[in-house]
Amino acid sequence: MVLRLYNTLSRRVEPFEPLAPPRVTLYTCGPTVWSYAHVGNFRTFLFSDLLRRYLEYRGYDVFTVMNLTDVDDRIIKAAGEAGTSVREFTDRFAEAFFEDRDYLRIKPADLYPRATAHIEHMIALVEQLLDRGLAYRGEDGSVYFSVGAFNGYGRLSRLDTRELKPGARVSSDEYSKEDARDFALWKTASTLDETVGAAWDAPFGRGRPGWHLECSAMALAEIRGRFGIETLDIHAGGVDLVFPHHENEIAQSEGATGRPFVRCWMHGEFLLIGGTKMSKRFGNTLTVRDLREEGVDPASFRMLVFSTHYRQQLNLTDEALEAATEGAQRLAELRERLGRAAAGASPDGVPREVEQLERAFAEAMNDDLSAPNALAAVFTFVRVANRRLDEGAWSAGEAAAVIETFDRIMEVLEVVPRAEVEDDLTAWVAERIKARQRARKAGDYAAADAIRDEVAACGIDLKDTPEGTRWTKRAG
Ligand SMILES: [Zn+2]
Repeated sequence: MVLRLYNTLSRRVEPFEPLAPPRVTLYTCGPTVWSYAHVGNFRTFLFSDLLRRYLEYRGYDVFTVMNLTDVDDRIIKAAGEAGTSVREFTDRFAEAFFEDRDYLRIKPADLYPRATAHIEHMIALVEQLLDRGLAYRGEDGSVYFSVGAFNGYGRLSRLDTRELKPGARVSSDEYSKEDARDFALWKTASTLDETVGAAWDAPFGRGRPGWHLECSAMALAEIRGRFGIETLDIHAGGVDLVFPHHENEIAQSEGATGRPFVRCWMHGEFLLIGGTKMSKRFGNTLTVRDLREEGVDPASFRMLVFSTHYRQQLNLTDEALEAATEGAQRLAELRERLGRAAAGASPDGVPREVEQLERAFAEAMNDDLSAPNALAAVFTFVRVANRRLDEGAWSAGEAAAVIETFDRIMEVLEVVPRAEVEDDLTAWVAERIKARQRARKAGDYAAADAIRDEVAACGIDLKDTPEGTRWTKRAG
C-alpha cells in the first residue's frame, strides 16, 4: 500500500517518495521561545509527531529536526524590557517547551538547533546570496533578499500577483528596500540588539539574522553535514507559515543551492477555541501548562487533536475533550482486558479481526494521514474485541498476538492513558524505576544496582534508553 500525502507545493495528494529510502528527512518549524507555547502551536507539533511515528511504523528511518527560534524582534524587545540577555531570556522557555513536549508524549526530534548556535551558517548563506546577485545591502546597512531576481517566487503560496505587487506592504524598513516584496536576511545591529547580546560580526556588517534565514540555514547545514544533500524530504509547519515564511525559505535555499529545497511541503491547520482562532490579542490563548494544571490527560488531548484531520480546522471545546477522554479510557480498558486474557503467554495465532484492524488502520493513514479514519477503525475493533473477550473466543496466545498489533498501532497514536494500563505490578516497577533514578542522580550507584537486582528477582529486566528506562517481563 502506497503512502500518499498532500503536498502544498503541488496542491495534490501524491505518493510519498523520499530521496533515498529508507531515510526520510523531516524538518518542522519549531517554537519561538519567548513565552509558553499555546495549544495551537502544539497542534502543529502533534501533527508532525504523528507523521514521524507513522513513517517509522512503515519502516522508514526518520531524521527529524525542529528549530528553536531564540532571536527575533519580539525576543529582543522582551529581553530588553526584562533587562536580561536573549540567551537568559529564552533558556527558560526552551526548557518549558521540552517539558510540554514530554507531557504531550511527543517523541523528541533528533536535533533541536537553536538559531543563535548557527550564526556562522546564516552568514555563509547570506554571502552566497550576495555573490549570486540575489541579495543586496540596503541604505540602512541591512541585507535584503531581492525577490525580483529570483525566478519562481510565489510558487508555494500561489499568491495573486496583485498581493505581491511592490508597495503592497508598508513597514519601517520600506525606504531601504528596492522592492516592497524584499525581505531582510540580515538586520543591521541596533543599540538594543547590542545590549541584549543579539549582534554578531559579519563581512557585510554587524547585525543579526532575519527570521526566515534561520530555518534555511539550519535545515541545509544539518542535512548537508550528515547526508551530503540539500533537499529535505518533508518540511512541515503551521498553515500560517506558508506565506511569507516558507515562500522565503524556498527563495533563500534554492537561490543559494540551485536545487529543490523540499520534496513535500506539509501544513497543519489552525486550532480554534470556541470557534475563533487563538490569539494573544483576544485573550483566548490556552497553553499546554493550562492543560496540565487542569489535569487533562495527555492521551485525551492527543485523541482530541487526532480526531480531526490535520488539514481541517480543529475546534477545541469542553464537550470534544470529554468525548476524547472517554474514548481514551475505553482503549485503556481494552488493553487491560487483553493483558489479563494473555496472562503472559507468547503470541500464537493471529485472529482475523486483528488483521482487519491493521489493514483498516494503514489504509486510513496512507490516505494523507487520516487519523480520524484510523481512530474509527480502532474503535470498531474495540467493540469487536470486547465481544470476543466476553465470549472467551481468544486463547491466551491469540490475546498476546492481539496485544502485539494493538500496541504497535498505539505506538503511532499514543492515545492510551498511561495510568490506566498500570496494574499493581506496573505501578510497583514504575515506583522502583523512579527510586533507582533518584539513587543514580544522587550518585549512589550501589543503591541503584540493588534496585535493579530487586526487580530482576521478580522477573523484570530494566533497559536504559534515551527516552528513559524501559522494562520487560521475562517469559515464564
Ligand atoms: Zn521555519
